[in-house]
Amino acid sequence: MYRRLAAVGMTTAVTVAILSAPAAADDAPVDDAIPGAPGIGDPYYPLDGNGGYDVDSYELAVTYDPATDLLRGTATIQSRATQSLSRFNLDLEGLEVEAVTVDGTAAGWGRDAAELTVTPSGPLRSGRHFTTVVTYSGVPSTGTGNPLGSSGFTATDDGALVAGQPHSAASWFPANDHPLDAAAVDVRVTVPEGLEAVSNGALEEQVTENGWTTWHWRSPEPMVTYLVVLAIGEFDINAYEVDGVRFWDALDPDLFAPLPQAPGLPPLGTTAQASLARQPEVLDFLAGIFGPYPFSTGGGIVDDVLELSFALETQTRPLYAPGFFADPLGGDLVVVHELAHQWAGDLVRLGGWQHLWLNEGFATYAEWLWLEREGLVPVQQQFDAYLSDLIPADDPFWSVLPGDPGPGPELFSPAVSQRGALTLHALRQAIGDDAFFATLRSWTATRAGTAVTTDDFVELAEQESGRDLDELFRTWLYTAGKPPAR
Ligand SMILES: [Zn+2]
Repeated sequence: MYRRLAAVGMTTAVTVAILSAPAAADDAPVDDAIPGAPGIGDPYYPLDGNGGYDVDSYELAVTYDPATDLLRGTATIQSRATQSLSRFNLDLEGLEVEAVTVDGTAAGWGRDAAELTVTPSGPLRSGRHFTTVVTYSGVPSTGTGNPLGSSGFTATDDGALVAGQPHSAASWFPANDHPLDAAAVDVRVTVPEGLEAVSNGALEEQVTENGWTTWHWRSPEPMVTYLVVLAIGEFDINAYEVDGVRFWDALDPDLFAPLPQAPGLPPLGTTAQASLARQPEVLDFLAGIFGPYPFSTGGGIVDDVLELSFALETQTRPLYAPGFFADPLGGDLVVVHELAHQWAGDLVRLGGWQHLWLNEGFATYAEWLWLEREGLVPVQQQFDAYLSDLIPADDPFWSVLPGDPGPGPELFSPAVSQRGALTLHALRQAIGDDAFFATLRSWTATRAGTAVTTDDFVELAEQESGRDLDELFRTWLYTAGKPPAR
């Protein structure tokens, strides 16, 4: 039954109610506002990231002068409140804050170690989009207490490098510095004319004025903060396009000098160039495993910093320590590893640092698949070697739990990456090639743009294979000791 008159009356009453309601909900008092948490809730690094809001975009404008090491920056951060906020935190290590505004109005702020607490002039209602602008300056300090060693902001002989895990962004801009919060990133870096500044994504513009050059890099695809890279110095930049992907490779020209300690060997730059030239081929190979390359840009950065000990999968443009290019095979493998991370880690993100094996095990397994594809070492032989005597049963390697290595140096140990890869091969042995590769493809397809945990992966592998895999993953990820050979 449809009671027409009553319905019309109701509609009128509702319409009147809507029209006479306050114009904007933001004008109503916010009586449930509480401070946002100083950490996003990662048990390994309780103060990393922050609670109560989610960042949509960072727009960074920084000026860096290598002569003085002075950095000046303005960070414009668009966020959405996920609770009603009386105040909220950003992560920022060192540097001096000069001013903070929220939606154009001056805000109060305070510092406590790496926490910057911002108190807007009024509370922010849950769901509200707001813009925070932080103006800051100072000499950035290299991160300390970092399991990866010297990372974060590092001054070099001709500029600076910024990259590192688990946190590096907060060494040069205020951030919600945890992989649970991804955002679009737009970076304008101004450096003395004659120097290059390289970051993620596409080079939009390069403008020189009064002896300073501004390099504008834009990453439309959301990115988590530890994947934001900055390299300042002398670089030869090689820009090219393959299959719709725009590449920018940046190599320090000093890398092309012959190595005094290794006469007769090609310079590191020559080997790096050769490995980077294989990027399109590597991406094709990886797309066959994980699905289409998820980003519109690519490339790599190699600076002449011999002390640098790591490579990092900074989104679309990994940073490589030059030492990896001492030999051609090592060079190719590190490129395969970092490009595999573009799917495992960058597209599919960590739900917490405990789950790092989902990044490292996958990238290492991709190296093993590449070695097999190149006709060098079959994956099975690699697996058998670990389980025979390559690493004895009493080696500390087997005491690290890849599924819960803890927040100390073990987190970035070979056990997480290599035993992580062994775990994947054990899974492949148990469920067969079809279900295994279907699981990998489904993982990147269904978890793209989300933060994941080990349980998510176990659940998917069980779904794809129709098998109960609890015991397998318990043995490989959560039990100390060398698993028995199958
Ligand atoms: Zn890795």
